[in-house]
Amino acid sequence: MRIRQFVIVCIISCLAASGMAQTPLANEWCGYTGKSPWLDWYQLHKSEIVHDRGVDTAWLYVPMTVQIVGDNSGNGYFPFENAIRSVCEMNENYADAHIRFYLVPGDAVRYLNNSAWYKHQYSGGSQLINQNKLPNRLNAFVVDDPAGNCGYAWQDAIVLGKKCSGADNTTWSHEAGHHLSLPHPFLGWEGFQWDYSQAAPDEINGFPVEKTDGSNCYFSGDGFCDTRPDYLNNRWFCNNNKESNILQRDPNGIEFRSDASLFMGYANDECASRFTQEQMEAMRENLYTEHSAYIAGDPPFSEIDDNASVALISPVDSQNVQYNNVTLQWNLVPGASFYVVEVSPQASFSPKVYHQVFTGPVTSTTITKGLLNNWNMYWRVRVYNEWDICQPYDNIQVGVFRTKNLTATNELERVVLAELSPNPVPGGFPARLDITSDESMDVALLVTDAAGRVCQSQTLRLSTGDNSIEIPTDHLNAGFYVVSVHNEKGSFTKRFVVTE
Ligand SMILES: [Zn+2]
Repeated sequence: MRIRQFVIVCIISCLAASGMAQTPLANEWCGYTGKSPWLDWYQLHKSEIVHDRGVDTAWLYVPMTVQIVGDNSGNGYFPFENAIRSVCEMNENYADAHIRFYLVPGDAVRYLNNSAWYKHQYSGGSQLINQNKLPNRLNAFVVDDPAGNCGYAWQDAIVLGKKCSGADNTTWSHEAGHHLSLPHPFLGWEGFQWDYSQAAPDEINGFPVEKTDGSNCYFSGDGFCDTRPDYLNNRWFCNNNKESNILQRDPNGIEFRSDASLFMGYANDECASRFTQEQMEAMRENLYTEHSAYIAGDPPFSEIDDNASVALISPVDSQNVQYNNVTLQWNLVPGASFYVVEVSPQASFSPKVYHQVFTGPVTSTTITKGLLNNWNMYWRVRVYNEWDICQPYDNIQVGVFRTKNLTATNELERVVLAELSPNPVPGGFPARLDITSDESMDVALLVTDAAGRVCQSQTLRLSTGDNSIEIPTDHLNAGFYVVSVHNEKGSFTKRFVVTE
């Protein structure tokens, strides 16, 4: 893998030396360049290898650990359930190659807190990989910014950007393809500026340029003859024929358009849908040789029944619950390792106000913040295990509950939520009373001191939704105070402290 490292380092220093870019490779889709020495070896010996191996359709199973990186404080994690979806989608994309990915039992996911890895340049990426890479598995690191790319494959790991890891993104499949030796079909053109109306040169960055007649396909481009010529090194959209809109000319001046259906090209994710036969054979051989440690392990082969659904115990049937103290309870599902719990004010589960993945036999969770008062909330629990990461959810059970402030002693408390901050408040700085109200109404607000003397009074109009009220402390001595809010519906109070 040293060649990859060398090529990337070279590109950084070339760009830096020429002053072309503030951020090397910024806004690129993928940071992988060059061709692995293993692939050179394989393509040289391919006919003997294919002859020796014969017809081979055995399933090959690749263990993975996903390492999710947050900043120093642990903020910004890519949701693990989205990583599960990404691995599931990889399995769909690799099914024709008879390659299936699974998560290492007991070591499916790790979390790393390091701002210099969360958003990194290649030096940070190298440190991230080398300090955390685990043996005998595909290591997938998910970060906020992988050196200005959507992702890259480097130093025998793949690094993925959160923003390029959504539903139906092909980033994970593409980078795993690099990991298993595949270059871009436009190998050599990475980072190269070209006027495509001109006939291409015979060589680019030391690589022969592939021609449309296929005459040099084994030693040009990616070295695969069933991937057509492609020189497009920036993201591009496809036309209805799944080809590039951009017309290119080969070294003989023959016009062609790039094939958009390849995961390894730079066509938009929705255009890409396949690996070619030769690409699949190369990835499989890579697993038999360079990455044989992956397939030496024993996959757990533990399927969860596709018809299994998590039975919800409570709350269900629109039961009223205390909005800031809700305990959700459900039943275990045989074979499940991960329980993904989601709560949303919408039946569509978008947006989610709570989501959490629990590992192991967990059957309840208590939520104390994030749920609004006086709302219908929908909740569900999805299950996975390290092997069975693609679960259908046709018959998933959805629970509904109604949030209430059950501790309220009067109607005003029932319809508003109030929060006073900061507390204590330094004298001279205003305190803020945030009131969320279910309806618009007039209220009177009083600030009294510890002896019950009124220090401030005002009347206010609350609007439906969020209201922010400033309480000045300029004329208040250090000490204890009470804010009371009341109208004909009732009243509530908040205590606060003013410091020197
Ligand atoms: Zn790439």
